Amino acid sequence: MSPQNQPEERGGSKPTPGKTPKERIQATKTTGLLPKWEYFKRMPDGRLLVVHCKLCGKIIYGKRMGPIISQYKDRASKTIVLEREVSYGPLGEYEIAVLEHEDGSSHETPLCATCLDSGISAAQAEAIYHADLEALHAAIRETQGEGEADTWLDAQLRKRPAQLRRRSRITEMMPEA
Ligand SMILES: [Zn+2]
Repeated sequence: MSPQNQPEERGGSKPTPGKTPKERIQATKTTGLLPKWEYFKRMPDGRLLVVHCKLCGKIIYGKRMGPIISQYKDRASKTIVLEREVSYGPLGEYEIAVLEHEDGSSHETPLCATCLDSGISAAQAEAIYHADLEALHAAIRETQGEGEADTWLDAQLRKRPAQLRRRSRITEMMPEA
């Protein structure tokens, strides 16, 4: 007797033996715990174009308007044209969350300050981790091939997220371990 056709338990995040690493990621994706699963876009040269908060969808990294570089009057349209410096980078609500694993390793990921401060459940933290693993797996597959990427993903999924915290200023000032 096997329990069949039972709906996935929301927020249950129980280990699911028998599933391949990629199936486990897909299972998390379909729970809907993470509204903005595909949360970033890159430019053709690889630089980040936009990053959304994975939980609320807010844009936390994107186009920033810099100082005016030149200003002139366009005679044809009779308008003043301002040319500004444009750059791409973190916006006001951008924060780095640190997901610590039981084995002592950690994983850093961007989120908005509001979501990070509002408290994130263990199931949401795992979903955040899985969304990042899917993106990293795709990047590794491009450079090292499917086999290497799958082996890497399997190892990462063995890590159990223990807690999620905001990256503190003290941590930022510490030398690299
Ligand atoms: Zn958010």
